[in-house]
Amino acid sequence: MDYEKFFADRISALRTEGNYRVFADLERMAGAFPRATSHTESGADEVTVWCSNDYLGMGQNQVVRAAMKEAIDKVGAGAGGTRNISGTTHYHVLLEEELANLHGTEAALVFTSGYVANEAALSTIGAKIPDCVLISDEDNHASMIAGIRHSLTDKVVFAHNDLADLEDKLRAIDIDRPKVIVFESVYSMDGDISPIAEICDLADKYNAMTYLDEVHAVGMYGPRGAGVAERDGVMDRLTVIQGTLAKAFGVVGGYIAGSSAMIDFVRSYAAGFIFTTSMPPAVAAGALASVRHLKASNAEREIHQERAATLKAMLRDAGLPVMPSVSHIVPVLVGDPVLCKQVTDELMGRYNIYVQPINYPTVSKGTERLRLTPTPLHTDADMRHLVTSLQEIWGRLSIRAAA
Ligand SMILES: *Cc1c(COP(=O)(O)O)cnc(C)c1O
Repeated sequence: MDYEKFFADRISALRTEGNYRVFADLERMAGAFPRATSHTESGADEVTVWCSNDYLGMGQNQVVRAAMKEAIDKVGAGAGGTRNISGTTHYHVLLEEELANLHGTEAALVFTSGYVANEAALSTIGAKIPDCVLISDEDNHASMIAGIRHSLTDKVVFAHNDLADLEDKLRAIDIDRPKVIVFESVYSMDGDISPIAEICDLADKYNAMTYLDEVHAVGMYGPRGAGVAERDGVMDRLTVIQGTLAKAFGVVGGYIAGSSAMIDFVRSYAAGFIFTTSMPPAVAAGALASVRHLKASNAEREIHQERAATLKAMLRDAGLPVMPSVSHIVPVLVGDPVLCKQVTDELMGRYNIYVQPINYPTVSKGTERLRLTPTPLHTDADMRHLVTSLQEIWGRLSIRAAA
């Protein structure tokens, strides 16, 4: 086989479909969020970032930066080992205590990323519980799908956020067979939110465990930023709550929270936890500072929700096809991968606005979109500039307006 030709052919197929990914070379400016320097062949330019998952700007927060610098100066750069072999630092222990406290659980366990947390926890739970069935929402994130696959156990997929379909699927499985309902709170491409309480009711009725990914909600929902389950008053009904330290908390890392026995079980059996060097202590220190800050402060959450509502209203008033979203995520439908890429190229090239096109396989074909993430630090002027730029592009490229 001509391996090089194979690789090149597959890449050119992606280009033809409009699905080839080009990374923006950015240098974020601490203290000037959401501004960044964009490096291209034609030089460096200042841009406004409209697609960051650093939803609250915590990645540049003074308290977080100070905690990380202090930890580096105290204990150095790396952790020095896996958690089992000298890589459990005091910062890791404090962070896990803080996360358990945040979610009102007995314990929590930190992983190197949210992806790894889902892959490791779900594959271990699915593989080790005898005859387990994993019942998964069809829109679940790639990391959950990876964990489910790697468990090598039976999987049943239910229609997205569809309680009737979920109940049909549950009813079809022996009541005594171990089962886990695997779902998210905020789905990050459409910005819709799952009915957590009703899913917990079904879990009770059919004797199932629940596994909830709150990656796009932690830091942002609930009075202490523990997520939608906290907002809805149902945190204590979930078996496993999974979250990330990389989005609203602004650093990197992932975790699960739950009972001592469940956490100790995953800690003891999950390869993705055991066989990898733990996160740098400074990262744990930064995440700890961020979680503590957002637990005590509601200001970021309140302004965030107001900013998202304002942007949605401005886009609607401008006749732009903003998709229905009940969360902080603001998707705008384009419906074609090549056009979608063209819109974002024009935003960057002509207007110094950075938005990444969201194409297949992240979303299904025909629903290609812009996914805007307003933060507490985007001003009215930023929004006006974005909306008028989009209106000009929509006119020039003759893209479908709002229905
Ligand atoms: C981003 C994401 C993850 C992975 O989290 P990382 O910390 O970025 O690895 C998991 N679940 C969902 C729903 C996500 O969007």
